[in-house]
Amino acid sequence: MTSTNVDPEEIAKFEALASRWWDANSEFKPLHEINPLRAGWIDEYSPIRGKALIDVGCGGGLLSEAMASRGATVTGIDMGEAPLSVARIHLLESQLDVEYLQSTAEALASERPETYDVVTCLEMLEHVPDPSAVIQACADMAKPGADLYFSTINRNPKAWLFAIVGAEYVLQLLPKGTHEYEKLIKPSELARWARAAGLQVEEMIGLTYNPLTKRYKLVEGDVSVNYMIKASKSA
Ligand code: SAH
Repeated sequence: MTSTNVDPEEIAKFEALASRWWDANSEFKPLHEINPLRAGWIDEYSPIRGKALIDVGCGGGLLSEAMASRGATVTGIDMGEAPLSVARIHLLESQLDVEYLQSTAEALASERPETYDVVTCLEMLEHVPDPSAVIQACADMAKPGADLYFSTINRNPKAWLFAIVGAEYVLQLLPKGTHEYEKLIKPSELARWARAAGLQVEEMIGLTYNPLTKRYKLVEGDVSVNYMIKASKSA
């Protein structure tokens, strides 16, 4: 059963924090700060105005709204109820239009195969029991010729030090326990799962945080901690 590819403890973490999702000084501050960077990167490679986009594991809708405001027709899916309610309520404020559904990628892939021009699945794969199955479902939802974007955190000693010890314990940017080391994903693993799903990996970019300037930036060639991958489905 595809519906078993959900970890209730992971969903509960995000349910508990959901009311603060749009507070840019909350636990979601890092997502707020990286949002314009990743939205810009995606829009640069896949100009999204007029495109049908699915945002898998959308949470409170930061990326979904950023994509909608740039002119995409957006569907956001998540298994958390509270994040979805927050996402829906925020539409009243932003005056944007996004379709939010409580669904797994696997379930929506069987209802809406080959439907989307762009698929985004950011900061979600490291919270799922079987990330390769989510990638397969993303590939299934993509139209032939579509672009797909995945982001997550690398698994190596530096990533452990920066993304877990640094971010959760020292700088306390994220709640302790947000990320579990064993669930982090190497770019080689993500790329292998993407290829197994019939996708071509085309681009990879790192996202680094400087604790002195408190700034995030996209860095070509450094995928040692946070990173994003662009893949495509053959036309
Ligand atoms: N993609 C968003 C939110 C990342 S937080 C962003 O980057 O801004 C991770 C989200 O994944 C949470 O909202 C959580 O509820 C969701 N999630 C975790 N496991 C999931 C699953 N199996 N199916 C759908 N959503 C899931």
